[in-house]
Amino acid sequence: MTSTMPSPASATALTPTSSAAEPTTLPAILGTYKRQAPLFVRGEGVHMIDESGKRYLDFVAGIAVSSLGHADAGVMQAMQEAMATGLIHTSNLYRTAPGEALASWLVAHSFASSVFFSNSGAEANEGAFKFARRWAKSTGHQAKHEIIALRGSFHGRMPGTLAATDRPAYRLPFRPLMGGVTIVERNLEELRAVLDPETAAAVIVEPIQGEGGVRIVEPEFLRGLRELTRERNVLLILDEIQCGLGRTGSFFAYEQLGFEPDMLTIAKPLANGLPMGAILVNDTVARVMQPGDHGTTFGGGPLLAHVAHHVVQRLADPALLQHVRETGAWFGEQLQAIADRTGAVRAIRGTGLMWGMDVHEPAAAIIARAFDQGLLLVSAGEHTLRFLPPLVISREELAKGLAILEGAIKA
Ligand SMILES: *Cc1c(COP(=O)(O)O)cnc(C)c1O
Repeated sequence: MTSTMPSPASATALTPTSSAAEPTTLPAILGTYKRQAPLFVRGEGVHMIDESGKRYLDFVAGIAVSSLGHADAGVMQAMQEAMATGLIHTSNLYRTAPGEALASWLVAHSFASSVFFSNSGAEANEGAFKFARRWAKSTGHQAKHEIIALRGSFHGRMPGTLAATDRPAYRLPFRPLMGGVTIVERNLEELRAVLDPETAAAVIVEPIQGEGGVRIVEPEFLRGLRELTRERNVLLILDEIQCGLGRTGSFFAYEQLGFEPDMLTIAKPLANGLPMGAILVNDTVARVMQPGDHGTTFGGGPLLAHVAHHVVQRLADPALLQHVRETGAWFGEQLQAIADRTGAVRAIRGTGLMWGMDVHEPAAAIIARAFDQGLLLVSAGEHTLRFLPPLVISREELAKGLAILEGAIKA
């Protein structure tokens, strides 16, 4: 509790002046986030509860993470089963049943022939970039290493993934970022010009750009990109960290596109809140990866893998996916009705239970008013509200949140 920041007059004189008063103490948790004031102490279904007992309807789900809601009985039981073994962690030097069962399940339910487990989304994408380069070098082209990302993309905040993230404010203070990464327009002409078989290793795409404003990348464009990458001997990586695992009404978003990627990354809801990610790779990539080519201390440990194995089976349940499609379509109609009634909305985009709403006002003002009324919302850019409720949310619960939303937009 001694984190005071002395500010002698001489130092103040050298510091650029800011309009806000200088804080006299620094927060114990580094100030990289603006957090809402209340302390949250409990979770219950689609609600989070603060220390005063106030309940908040959760349209954020920890940013598309708590897809089964909070305190889900099956998830809690899976955690207890895993803890009862006493084997929380082994490192990847040893085999465990949960990791192998989860990997086999993912292989059986996707295009992939192998899986690498990571601890987060950014880590999954960083790993995918390494795998792409490892494969590219194996083709015999020594200069084949370029990673290409699209305008509007978000792939993470580490050196490689930040280089592939199209957000100037996130990037500029941290240059130089990883080299050999290019961001191009979502346009097949431009991609034809940059996809040189001798230099390009992979293209990475979010089928729905989440942080970039919930922008659905046109399926026609994606199918063209799949053909082009095959033609040019370049890998296609789909980043389904936010839009995958049921969010759009199919287990993987790519199932609705009619083609398969070479690699696919998942994370956010994979263990319903425990930190876990994965890179799914096809046999082309799997064949070139050798012991020592990549590593992680924690990745795929038995506790997380056991919980994730439970979670993926729940998220792949056809009844849940149907619920997401039907309830999501209804939710989109309700958002449109709010837009029509209030005249305060510029555009609505989305599918499944992943929606964005462009508003005239700064999104933060609406989010703050909704928060006061007990509704959790998140933005995706300065003027875009983003809706990512738990996938298990009911129509009645959504209707309650929509009423609060409308009030917050009108206020
Ligand atoms: C959240 C996200 C990431 C980064 O995941 P972290 O776990 O925060 O590192 C990468 N890609 C997409 C599409 C995301 O939504």
